[in-house]
Amino acid sequence: MSITFGPVPSRRFGLSLGIDLSPGAKACNFDCLYCELAAAKPTDTIPNPPNVEEVIEETKKALAKHHDTEVITITANGEPTLYPYLDELITALQSIKGDRKLLILSNASTIDDPKIRQVLAKLDIVKLSLDCATKRCFKRLDRPLDAEKLDAIIEGMRKFRQIFTGMLVIEILVVQGINDTDEEFEALAKALKKIRPDRIDVGTIDRPPAYAVQPVTYERLESLAKHLEGLPVSIVAKRPKSTKQHFSREDILAMLARRPLTQEDVDTLFDTASKATLTQLLQEGLLQKTTIGSTVFYTLSS
Ligand code: SF4
Repeated sequence: MSITFGPVPSRRFGLSLGIDLSPGAKACNFDCLYCELAAAKPTDTIPNPPNVEEVIEETKKALAKHHDTEVITITANGEPTLYPYLDELITALQSIKGDRKLLILSNASTIDDPKIRQVLAKLDIVKLSLDCATKRCFKRLDRPLDAEKLDAIIEGMRKFRQIFTGMLVIEILVVQGINDTDEEFEALAKALKKIRPDRIDVGTIDRPPAYAVQPVTYERLESLAKHLEGLPVSIVAKRPKSTKQHFSREDILAMLARRPLTQEDVDTLFDTASKATLTQLLQEGLLQKTTIGSTVFYTLSS
């Protein structure tokens, strides 16, 4: 089984070369209803993990072939922080990465462990999942080995933010009938305000899930995202074709006072005249444009 894959273009992070730390079989301590891998009993062990030398050799070969790689993504057929030699691997990857960024995609299940926080703090970008902020929802949706850990995971994320100077992204995946409620998003907003991530990606199912669950609509994501007022939210979902509307200066300023807008939001929602008004507001210095990962955000000037 190959340890590296890609590179694949990622709109969120750039051209990404993947490293799979569990190439033989799925090894995850969650059994999420929406998982794009087959359903499997949760476990906290990766069977026969590749050794660090093998991973580094394969990565070097792949990088030599694909010079344009922008990001090296540590992932797994499951949860990469279960890999027993993660610290050693990250140190070795740092020495070969050049000017590429190192990213990990984790379900956050181990972020309550101070040792894992220290190891992940060496990366450039860390993406952690947080689908639910209540135990009942966490149990139903992510089906973890240990649902009692949720509060410790949220606290672990908050502590991680304090030591991590790179880019912290939190991903929320919304499933119809489970975490698509106003109450759950109120609870998530409370947790996220404590964690203070650089970006929050809110999405829904877009690949065949392990269990028979359904996505929510783009409009529902928009409406749930309103609970995350003031936070840097990026909605990651297929946009409806014709939702272009006209917004005045005041409308735009009021929208941005609630939450930042991404370039994708602007392209989906703004008609041509509204886009011109947005540019005007930028020129007047009332707004600012920042890029977090590959996502462009418009916010009110501070
Ligand atoms: S954490 Fe990721 S790999 Fe594990 S079950 Fe959930 S979606 Fe699948």
